[in-house]
Amino acid sequence: MKQEENFARPDAASGPGAYRQYAREWLHSHLPAHMRADSVDYRTPSLDECRDWEARMYQVGLAGMTWPTAYGGHGLSLREHLAVNKEVGALAMPESVSSIGKELAGPIIMAVGTEAQKQAFLPAILEMREYWCQGFSEPEAGSDLARLRTKATPDGDDWLIQGQKIWTSGAAKAHYCLLLTRTGTVADKHRGLLMFAVPMDTPGIRVVPIRSIDNKQSFAEVFFDQVRVPDSARLGAADEGWSAAIRVLSIERATNRMYRAWRFECELRQLVRAYQSEPALRGRLQEPGLRQAVGQVVSQIDGLKGLVERSVEQLQAGEPIGARGSLTKLYWSECHQAFASLALSMVADINPGHSALAQRAKAHFTQAYLFSRAESIYAGTTEVQLDVIAQRIQQLTKD
Ligand SMILES: Cc1cc2nc3c(=O)[nH]c(=O)nc-3n(C[C@H](O)[C@H](O)[C@H](O)COP(=O)(O)OP(=O)(O)OC[C@H]3O[C@@H](n4cnc5c(N)ncnc54)[C@H](O)[C@@H]3O)c2cc1C
Repeated sequence: MKQEENFARPDAASGPGAYRQYAREWLHSHLPAHMRADSVDYRTPSLDECRDWEARMYQVGLAGMTWPTAYGGHGLSLREHLAVNKEVGALAMPESVSSIGKELAGPIIMAVGTEAQKQAFLPAILEMREYWCQGFSEPEAGSDLARLRTKATPDGDDWLIQGQKIWTSGAAKAHYCLLLTRTGTVADKHRGLLMFAVPMDTPGIRVVPIRSIDNKQSFAEVFFDQVRVPDSARLGAADEGWSAAIRVLSIERATNRMYRAWRFECELRQLVRAYQSEPALRGRLQEPGLRQAVGQVVSQIDGLKGLVERSVEQLQAGEPIGARGSLTKLYWSECHQAFASLALSMVADINPGHSALAQRAKAHFTQAYLFSRAESIYAGTTEVQLDVIAQRIQQLTKD
């Protein structure tokens, strides 16, 4: 492993190309083999290992690129952020264990939080001292989020919160919940919604993990029973909850985990390498059907890259992404589901006698396939994205 001083961090004037090269060299030199999903030395990293890795990335300027320096960020542009994401994607490193904090809670706190909230929350997110979860969905309010029932009632200088959230990713490890509540009744729909930053150790909060088909417990039901929070936990003004929530969702759809296309490409390289490592499988790469299926994945990945680059340029030019975020969300989820299905059919041919690289690919893509089933659900389902695209981009009316 090279010493830190061998890596000179480019300044803001150096441009995204220099930042990308710096990111590539630093990441390749420092990511341990056992944390690379395409390495035969891989073992599932612990939460603490992931935390330490991301904290280190932040310290060397590879996280928090676009956040203001006043809140611990590096004060760079989305172009540098994208440049780093391309290299993050190109290496088979673990998914961020703090993406809700860094990519959803952080930006919304920056947009609607008070100065005291920004100082209290933002540096702790980047330094990996605090994790966040997103408490939006409820049993009766997923796609139709405006039907949420979790109630916030004023009580002196405090608020009392009563209700239930579901599918809350990372709730068991989170220090804070970005919680969407309402002050009135469900009939008010998107009016009277209120967002809070709720400490997860507040009395009255109960987290009940949910096991998913990949046998993990990465999300949970979260129950709020007369949870008392001070008014200083409120994020944004009284009627700002809906616009803040929409903002969170549009970030989640358009720019969250910007590295995806480059990660899919990295996974494809892993799959092909696994096949090439095994004489019994190598010949299959010549089959026209398989080649065409791989070609299809490559073309989809390329299209996704174009969408992401365009979003970055749009945002840099100060244009909102709006409904186009739905295009990106639809594209990456459909692209990866199709790829994961192809990969699963390919790794089915790998048996215990095959190479270690092939075994690793089999374990990875079996897991990836199972998780990919959720990709057309979270951050808004495929049906909802198609509806948004038809109505808001193509301007079809509902009637
Ligand atoms: C892995 C994973 C992680 C998640 N993490 C979080 C999290 O951290 N925080 C959080 O708040 N939520 C989270 N969610 C929840 C996610 O946002 C919801 O599951 C999603 O919004 C869909 O809501 P629902 O499950 O209630 O399904 P429903 O909204 O009930 O939808 C059921 C079906 O009906 C279809 N449908 C619904 N409305 C329409 C419509 N208008 N037109 C056409 N079809 C429609 C849907 O497409 C879907 O097929 C997560 C979900 C998953 C799978």
